[in-house]
Amino acid sequence: MSNPTIAIVGSGPIGSTYARVLLEQVPNARVVMFEAGPQVTEVPGESVRNIADPGEKARVTEGMFTARQGTHLLDFGGAGSAHASSFPTAAAATNVGGQGAHWTCATPSPAFSEKVPFIADEEWDGLIEDAKQLLHVHSAAFADSAVGEAIRTLLDEEFGAELPEGYGVGTLPVAGDPQPDGSVRWAGADVVLGPLIDKDSPLSKQFELRDLTLVRRVELDGHRVTGVTVEDLRTGEKSFVAADIVVVAADAFRSPQLLWASGVRPQALGHYLTEHPVVISTVALDAERMGRYATEEDLKAELARRALNPADPVAAVNRIPFSEPEHPFSVQVMYTETTPFPMEPGTPYSENRWGYVNMGYGMRKHPRYEDAVTFDDNEPDYRGFPNMRIEYALTERENAEIAEATERLRRAGKALGAFVAEPRLMPNGSSLHYQGTMRMGETDDGTSVADPWSRVWGYNNLVVGGNALIPTATAMNPTLMSVAIAVRGARKVAEELGSQSA
Ligand code: FAD
Repeated sequence: MSNPTIAIVGSGPIGSTYARVLLEQVPNARVVMFEAGPQVTEVPGESVRNIADPGEKARVTEGMFTARQGTHLLDFGGAGSAHASSFPTAAAATNVGGQGAHWTCATPSPAFSEKVPFIADEEWDGLIEDAKQLLHVHSAAFADSAVGEAIRTLLDEEFGAELPEGYGVGTLPVAGDPQPDGSVRWAGADVVLGPLIDKDSPLSKQFELRDLTLVRRVELDGHRVTGVTVEDLRTGEKSFVAADIVVVAADAFRSPQLLWASGVRPQALGHYLTEHPVVISTVALDAERMGRYATEEDLKAELARRALNPADPVAAVNRIPFSEPEHPFSVQVMYTETTPFPMEPGTPYSENRWGYVNMGYGMRKHPRYEDAVTFDDNEPDYRGFPNMRIEYALTERENAEIAEATERLRRAGKALGAFVAEPRLMPNGSSLHYQGTMRMGETDDGTSVADPWSRVWGYNNLVVGGNALIPTATAMNPTLMSVAIAVRGARKVAEELGSQSA
């Protein structure tokens, strides 16, 4: 096909992966990316965590119904709000770069049964490597931090003997570029887009990003997509943009909503919703225990590094990865010199000299048809789309894993110091890792929305992307896995468009 047009809905890491891989493999293509939200950083899609000035940062992350920084609740309670009482903290980001402008950049790889069972291990490993490159994943960020090392050693004393070889306590891989001064420039959709937003690159001539442009409908002629109807949110003007391929990467709730609104309604659409139940706590690090493995000088060096960008919440990050069968949890342990909540001066462990760790266990939710977002044609939401209703429940299986994780979190806390925030289970929806609502499958048996190359079953030129594609029960942060799945999908599209290099 000569000069094909590809329309991409959503400018987060996944839409950006499609844009990048497709333009690199089909350089005569034209990619138009539509984003409902505004561009909030100078470089499109950059992580707002790179903004050092706290005032400026607050300006770009504040939202009307703010949930976690930079996101807004789906069930905000006003006119046109979604209904999600069993999943109350479901949230989304609406800006160039999507949630990827606000994310923590944790990028562990899927392991054991987290992986997609019908993608062979060898191919999978290659896809993960490609995804790491696209996201600038760095496996040893802050590895030189002696404070981080001391935390790892204490955790290893507690848990090391129980963990399988290769899956012990370690540093958490993160997406970002270490800087000479010891800080990190965090990665967002900007690094994934790479040459597409570099004016000196010829690929940038083939790429157009339209912010504040809402895709209202994917247009179809039978089972072929013909383009998208978009609304310019600055002027209210609606128009049709013809496209040879449409990629919908508009998050795990709004992508299925857009398909539903467009009349694409596979049986599994919106169903099999999973996320990560999360148990979190904050622990004041014990001076005597930390002092066994780190010196006062080490602490001073860590505090000096933190002072470089006090608005950045991420310092030394450790983890215990998911492994099976004994450790189906993803554990994240993040050093911080202050608590994430105010502490009354003079109360025990306020102004703790050795600082704190924010520590969380992420767990699995096993997919079930009945955990779902459904859409109501008779009730428009605040943007005029069929409104969402989310039904979701934890089962005995999840509750048993949550109890076990909580027990382990207590052990970890005791090994490191004293709890200043006791372990607690966050409300459903808190993880921001929403998966399964457009799951991929090996066969079109009604339990999946997309084929193994992310094309909606029966619609060869309609491709979907994002965490919603993940069909398995996972505990790890999902973005790296979703980028890997998107690389595979994009290569397939490129191959079909007649690329020589696919
Ligand atoms: P998104 O990034 O959500 O982007 C989707 C975009 O589509 C949005 O910008 C939205 O405005 C746009 N859109 C929606 N509907 C339309 C429409 N109709 N027309 C046009 N545009 C539309 N993941 C990890 O793996 N590790 C982490 O450490 C991590 N930490 C996180 C911390 C925070 C605070 C947050 C908010 C998220 C975190 N995540 C993390 C999740 C991660 O950000 C997401 O997995 C990732 O951004 C998903 O990428 P995406 O492109 O699929 O969707």
